[in-house]
Amino acid sequence: MTPTSANLQAVLARIHAAAHRFGRDPAGIRLLAVSKTWPAQCVRDAFAAGQQAFGENYVQEGVDKIGELAALDLEWHFIGPLQSNKTRLVAEHFDWVHSIERLKIAERLSEQRPSHLPPLSVCLQVNVSGEASKSGCAPAELPALASAVAALPRLHLRGLMAIPAPADDFDIQRQPFCQLRKLFEQLQGGGLVLDTLSMGMSHDIEAAIAEGATMVRVGTAIFGDRNKA
Ligand SMILES: *Cc1c(COP(=O)(O)O)cnc(C)c1O
Repeated sequence: MTPTSANLQAVLARIHAAAHRFGRDPAGIRLLAVSKTWPAQCVRDAFAAGQQAFGENYVQEGVDKIGELAALDLEWHFIGPLQSNKTRLVAEHFDWVHSIERLKIAERLSEQRPSHLPPLSVCLQVNVSGEASKSGCAPAELPALASAVAALPRLHLRGLMAIPAPADDFDIQRQPFCQLRKLFEQLQGGGLVLDTLSMGMSHDIEAAIAEGATMVRVGTAIFGDRNKA
């Protein structure tokens, strides 16, 4: 067993335990393995251990890895900040984007999505309270952004994503996830068909699952400390 496969099993066990504790079906929670900064071999090890979906933050690093691993049946998610001059590479190479915060970026991705590929699955990144960075759209702007993105022909709006500031206390961890879930439910109530709440990282998977996460994005707990990559 490689260290990656042991770590992966431990993360899956955490997801199952949290699902059980909060009365959720573990089948409704997907694991996205965040492979940013780690070489293609680490992705191969995780794939050999059964992991199929991988997340990358940097466009060129991601595109290089996608090319190197093209022989494997992998699903690639772009989760980092996206500048307009990089949208074409993302539209051409990735299956998902979690970090849409402006309509202009979404419009470019829709225009640039190649016609031989299925629509690009996207989540809108929301700046919930306690957000570590300044990224994400303001909650007040979310309904308008969501309906505009949902109307773009080559995108498939799947849901919402957030990156709250790290917190140690479980109840404090839950608050921004609760806020994101309520925004998600409001959009659903407004008639949008959404299936993805992308929230929870290595240190707060359990709090995210308690609040309804359908996809957790985990790097460190699978691959190790990125400072040692
Ligand atoms: C790096 C990153 C992750 C993974 O974080 P870990 O703490 O290493 O699990 C998840 N989501 C985003 C957007 C990231 O940039």
